[in-house]
Amino acid sequence: EVPNILVLGSLNMDLLLRVPRAPEAGETLIGHSLALFPGGKGGNQAVSCARQGAQVRLLARIGRDADGQALRAALAHDGIALDALQVDAQTPTGRALVMLEDSAQNRIVVLPGANATLQVDEALLARQLAGAQFFVTQLESPLPAVLQAVAAAHRAGCAVLLNPSPMQPLPDTLWPQLDTLVVNEVEAAAYAGCAVATPEQAAAAGQALRARGVARVVVTLGAQGAVTVEQGGCSLQPAPQVQAVDTTAAGDTFAGALAVALAQGQSLAQATARGVRAAAVCVTRVGAQVSIPTAAEVDAQPEAPAAKELP
Ligand code: ATP
Repeated sequence: EVPNILVLGSLNMDLLLRVPRAPEAGETLIGHSLALFPGGKGGNQAVSCARQGAQVRLLARIGRDADGQALRAALAHDGIALDALQVDAQTPTGRALVMLEDSAQNRIVVLPGANATLQVDEALLARQLAGAQFFVTQLESPLPAVLQAVAAAHRAGCAVLLNPSPMQPLPDTLWPQLDTLVVNEVEAAAYAGCAVATPEQAAAAGQALRARGVARVVVTLGAQGAVTVEQGGCSLQPAPQVQAVDTTAAGDTFAGALAVALAQGQSLAQATARGVRAAAVCVTRVGAQVSIPTAAEVDAQPEAPAAKELP
């Protein structure tokens, strides 16, 4: 059975500037290249779900401009249903300025544009949720809209996967509505209020977040892989060793592949291993949506090192 996933989130046109290294304040240096790439966390996660074989609908907002049209065309090309896509006649499509260094380090500034005026219509949302096993969202969209949609999905019995990025303060009432929380180490540390660098610390942070009511937590640890935290215990799903050139969209690729595997009925550990393999392909390519692998490309990737149980 084909998994059915509703994604609510942002769409940005990424202006990617490749540089040998970031300039110091007041310094001028010569860059390598400048190009436009479709991005935005909502769009990226929707594309990741679609390329892993899910039927995907995206609830997002663009401007009435060329960037919006290019984003729409890219998403349609991936077979994503866009009947819930809103067009704002007054506000430009979201943009992100991405500076990518030779070291693969990136620096990103987001201009929310039309993402900031995304609206959630409860009746429409209920129809869009019909048949979906997962509702997937992030925090590049207005927080009130995200909270409203999460509550509606939870009430409708649809499992909610939240990737609370970019980080912002969240109400205590949110956590018990989440089936799966996906955080990177910085977010895990901030939301749990403890240091997170090692897998053991990630597991402890995940336990602290579970204590607030989240059913399952995954902490992504970059090149180390990802840590799963659920009732039965914790595990590290290590990443395969790859040559990372651009980690943009790695977390989004991971979240999408995780959601699809969970919707297919895989265990949290199996689904996380799948997400880690998908993200490992993403980091070897430049750009956001263009770097997200298909299921066949993930299958062709070598197996990651064996998982480790964590205390
Ligand atoms: P981003 O913001 O760059 O999209 P993130 O900060 O949300 O990412 P990370 O933990 O950095 O999240 O990366 C997400 C996942 O991508 C990791 O769990 C890992 O599976 C994979 N990944 C990231 N960097 C690497 C790397 N250098 N080698 C292999 N896998 C990587």
